[in-house]
Amino acid sequence: MALKLVLFGRQGAGKGTQSALLAKHYGAPHVSTGDMLREAVAEGTEFGRQAKQYMDSGALLPDEVMLGVITERFAQPDVQANGFLLDGFPRTVGQAEGLLGITDVDLAVNLEVPRDVVLERLSSRRVCANCGTIYSLAEPPTHPWTCDVCGGEVVQRADDTAEAISARLEAYERDTVPAIAIFGQRGKLETIDGLGRPEDVSARLVAAIDAHLAR
Ligand SMILES: [Zn+2]
Repeated sequence: MALKLVLFGRQGAGKGTQSALLAKHYGAPHVSTGDMLREAVAEGTEFGRQAKQYMDSGALLPDEVMLGVITERFAQPDVQANGFLLDGFPRTVGQAEGLLGITDVDLAVNLEVPRDVVLERLSSRRVCANCGTIYSLAEPPTHPWTCDVCGGEVVQRADDTAEAISARLEAYERDTVPAIAIFGQRGKLETIDGLGRPEDVSARLVAAIDAHLAR
């Protein structure tokens, strides 16, 4: 079965963890636009160079650039055979309409974690500056603040300040919540309680997805 799924949720809701669990369960590739951007910039591809210019100037990538990249990704054999779990896109109504112009979608799931909970999670998050392993004030490395994996320095990311987090959460309410509604209007939206242990949340997601697809 080729499952075509869009995963919504506030930053810090656990989308990365849940995407990995769903990818394993359904065999559909995890298509993360954030990962694709970071890889393209690191590898210095044509798209990566374009993307870096926009990001360096503080601008968001135009929708048509992102849609072009996603269209290319969707043409690859793994997506053609097994579908996709799309994570990080769309973030606006325009992007949602653009996406539905290039592919059909079986279902969008909204991983619902309240704003105050993700704010707390994100502001307590600490990251290894060297390898990217994630820690938190509640779960620090064994030797504070030295990475258990690589011995690197564990720090708070510059974009994890309370001010920057608030700005991203506001953008989500303003731009992304209306984009989620577009899937609701088409009868292709399930909202899942994202609180609790990752394996419990995953079981809830799978149950809701299977029930929706069986209709
Ligand atoms: Zn490390």
